Amino acid sequence: MSTVDWQGKHVTVAGLGVSGIPAARALHERGALVTVVNDGDDERARAQAAELEALGITVRLGDGATLPPSTELVVTAPGWQPDKPLFLAAAEAGVDIWGDVELAWRLRGDNGRKAAPWLAVTGTNGKTTTVRMLASILEAAGLRTAAVGNIGVSLLDAVLGEQEYDVLAVELSSYQLHWAPSLRAHSAAVLNLAPDHLDWHGSMEAYAADKGRVYEGNTVACVYNAADPATEELVREADVEEGCRAIGFTLGAPGPSQLGVVDGILVDRAFVKNRQKQAQELAEVSDVNPPAPHNIANALAAAALARAFGVEPAAVRDGLRNFRPDAHRIEHVADIGEVAYVDDSKATNTHATEASLAAYDSIVWIAGGLAKGATFDELVTGAAKRLRGVVLMGADRALIHEALTRHAPEVPVVDLDRTDTGAMSEAVEHAARLARPGDTVLLAPACASMDMFTNYNKRGEAFADAVRARAETSA
Ligand code: ADP
Repeated sequence: MSTVDWQGKHVTVAGLGVSGIPAARALHERGALVTVVNDGDDERARAQAAELEALGITVRLGDGATLPPSTELVVTAPGWQPDKPLFLAAAEAGVDIWGDVELAWRLRGDNGRKAAPWLAVTGTNGKTTTVRMLASILEAAGLRTAAVGNIGVSLLDAVLGEQEYDVLAVELSSYQLHWAPSLRAHSAAVLNLAPDHLDWHGSMEAYAADKGRVYEGNTVACVYNAADPATEELVREADVEEGCRAIGFTLGAPGPSQLGVVDGILVDRAFVKNRQKQAQELAEVSDVNPPAPHNIANALAAAALARAFGVEPAAVRDGLRNFRPDAHRIEHVADIGEVAYVDDSKATNTHATEASLAAYDSIVWIAGGLAKGATFDELVTGAAKRLRGVVLMGADRALIHEALTRHAPEVPVVDLDRTDTGAMSEAVEHAARLARPGDTVLLAPACASMDMFTNYNKRGEAFADAVRARAETSA
């Protein structure tokens, strides 16, 4: 399937890591002359380098900036910033740059197995959830599938591994799309578009353009969010295959060529015989776990992609019922004295937190961390009426506090003047004091976690541990 003759081709792999190592090995096995370049030169990198060198792969540690002179192709880890000197040198020399996704796309079917079509999902928030819902639906339809991409399982492993698939549910980040010029998905969805990672892309336009690449060359459906016109605009701009349809999803009643919700039922007015007159019931809102509005939107997007692939309605329902959300995504931890404690540590930006806050009526909100240049006025204004109280922590908590003072001065705020890991149990204590029966204590930080925790998982675990400790003492 591979269109490239790798024999003797000089390929530079940028970055030793989850994507770089398998890429280097796969290319070496195909006869390419591989040089791996890596900025870091620590003990771990040296051990990894030694393993690759034993195979005959050249590794240059401590210098990820210089392009080896004979390079004919660069294969990069997705996170490397496009303005790195290595890439500028490659562009100047007319050398192509591929990311891990592009490489997987080019090598699919290369091992003699069937090249499965890709159903792709991108967006600022909800990608992992939607891709997992999609995989669950495809499985319920009896298809051999996997949730892959920016989600744990590397695409290269999926396309070159032992297992043969009928279809892949692929999560793609904006970074991965940036470096994937020839990717052509069967169908794709952009869930939503809000400013994120702008330091990497340079501007909102560039970020949107990279997300929009997911629609390029789609053959059956480009799925967009009817509530987010920017996603529909990307469909309009895309160059797709003849006959490919634009399919919207909405939390309201669907128009023709849309999926939506009517009286608590998820319905399809796109993949039916007569979309002017007919609507097909797919599932009930209560089949979606959890049935928060943004998650119903994710379910509709997943359903649209599955239906584009020809999946029957009953499998959509069964797949949604079987789906269990990943940890730290609106995860119910415990009820203590009629107060629910919910961990949405994965809400690392304001767009995600907005969705999370919209899912509850009366909230004690735990927030703060690294703001990544975000502002909080809109978020606070939208949620003010539903806030019982707020507990703030982390490096940039003052930014949220200022927005609260401006737009919700009546809401009590506890400002924890500490950024050590132990602050979380104090935050939970304060939140419990502020909460009234029927309230939800919601960790939805709207910020990254690295000022206080290794990552959002650790932050969520610290919250859950503190809640459980409290549940035990009050039992
Ligand atoms: P991603 O893979 O895009 O980071 P996840 O499915 O892991 O997305 O969800 C990340 C966070 O984004 C969740 O914790 C939730 O707060 C929020 N979220 C999920 N789906 C949506 C959506 N459709 N719109 C807005 N926010 C969402």
